[in-house]
Amino acid sequence: MAQRYPLVIGGKAVIAGNHAEVANPSTGDVVGLMPLATPGQLDDAVAAAAAAFPAWRDRDDDDRRRACHAIAGVVADHAEPLARLLTLEQGKPLNGMGSRFELGGALAWTRHTADLALPMEVLQDGDQGRIELHRRPLGVVGSITPWNWPVMIACWHIIPAVRAGNTVVIKPSPLTPLSTIRLVELINSVLPPGVVNVVTGENAVGAALSAHPGVAKMTFTGSTATGKKVMAAAVDTLKRLTLELGGNDAGIVLPDADPRAIAEGLFWGAFINNGQTCAALKRLYVHDDIHDAVCDALVDYARGVTVGDGLDEASVLGPVQNAMQFDKVRRLVDDARARGGRILTGGAPLDRPGHFYPVTLVADVDHGTALVDEEQFGPALPIIRYRDIDEVVAKANDSPCGLGGSVWSRDAAAARALAARLECGSVWVNRHGAIQPNAPFGGVKQSGFGVEFGVEGLKEFTAVQTVFC
Ligand code: NAD
Repeated sequence: MAQRYPLVIGGKAVIAGNHAEVANPSTGDVVGLMPLATPGQLDDAVAAAAAAFPAWRDRDDDDRRRACHAIAGVVADHAEPLARLLTLEQGKPLNGMGSRFELGGALAWTRHTADLALPMEVLQDGDQGRIELHRRPLGVVGSITPWNWPVMIACWHIIPAVRAGNTVVIKPSPLTPLSTIRLVELINSVLPPGVVNVVTGENAVGAALSAHPGVAKMTFTGSTATGKKVMAAAVDTLKRLTLELGGNDAGIVLPDADPRAIAEGLFWGAFINNGQTCAALKRLYVHDDIHDAVCDALVDYARGVTVGDGLDEASVLGPVQNAMQFDKVRRLVDDARARGGRILTGGAPLDRPGHFYPVTLVADVDHGTALVDEEQFGPALPIIRYRDIDEVVAKANDSPCGLGGSVWSRDAAAARALAARLECGSVWVNRHGAIQPNAPFGGVKQSGFGVEFGVEGLKEFTAVQTVFC
């Protein structure tokens, strides 16, 4: 019998009346049973967070810093079983840039965020009086997370929220809820009851959380389509919002780049987590002079990458996480092929159980093909040949999204000049998608608004209060 996981409300494990199975994408086996929260249980979670808020808000700031470090401590103590559970439900390998890497990221962000502070600022102090700027917490923060990096993104939401003095109700993706439940259980072993609560269920629970009158702010990471629904649901109560949404990141390789030297960075920029990463490289533009050499170098690199069951220590990529995503990747690649796209490697599902799709590189495609125009969010990269710099800038910016972008060149000044012309929240030179806990990260256009990470990210969980004394 598969394990029934509980909701965590007010510091207590709450057993739901109904459950749904969570499947292992490598095998289809049941990993565990997700509790299906009722609307009443969602209300209970928001009420528990609201009840815990005043005492948590009034805690000494240094206490909250220590509490966040205590979270890092308890998560570190349980990192290996948590990584294993993550692999079972998400599919990503334990090894490589998989579950252990994700736990390492969650810990790095937790520790860095713990040590951030937002001290009071004196704006004026003189004959005309004193003016102080304080940052106050908002109240109950609602968090909704996706299935691609569930544990790390949960920490990106929870830790700055509680560090700034808020309390939290988190709702993970129904595809990967178990590792978040376990994370919240661990957090509750070191925080007062009610400060962090978890409710799970299908998408309707997210919709109800976004509309809940007891929630002061929503922090949402997921698709642009769902982000719009969260924004609409937040209107009635004017909730504060941070929306980290989809991307269709362009990478531009200038003619002076060394194809062999950049192949590894390009590959992992695109295929980290099987391409199921918001700021993965999703469209690669290569100058005609070195187009074929870059394609050859990428194909050679892909040959050495082992795809398999995440529990196998030899695997560095696992399956696609779910059937819907698997079907989307297959449809986009088949469509690109039908429109004249040249499959350099991969191109058809692997002949084995589970949602396994190989690393796929497709050349001779351009705008007007869905693999280029849409966010594929999977292991298939379109490679687009270009000749003119203005043409490639226009194409890179020809997207409703604007999350990340990259420029690949030996000439740092030329790369920086090109970066300034890209419409996106982050630009990397000679790498792609490398995020850090001290560098703000967020999107422009329909990739969302608000930023996460660093002091700028922490500020998003506060309101300014100006005190005229
Ligand atoms: P999704 O939008 O389908 O689901 C995200 C979350 O929203 C899930 O928890 C889901 O249950 C919930 N949800 C669904 N309908 C809802 C509704 N009506 N109201 C409130 N919540 C609802 O996204 P996904 O498939 O889980 O994740 C993939 C997407 O997330 C990709 O587009 C990717 O680019 C994006 N993403 C963005 C970032 C970033 O930082 N910008 C990071 C990771 C993923």
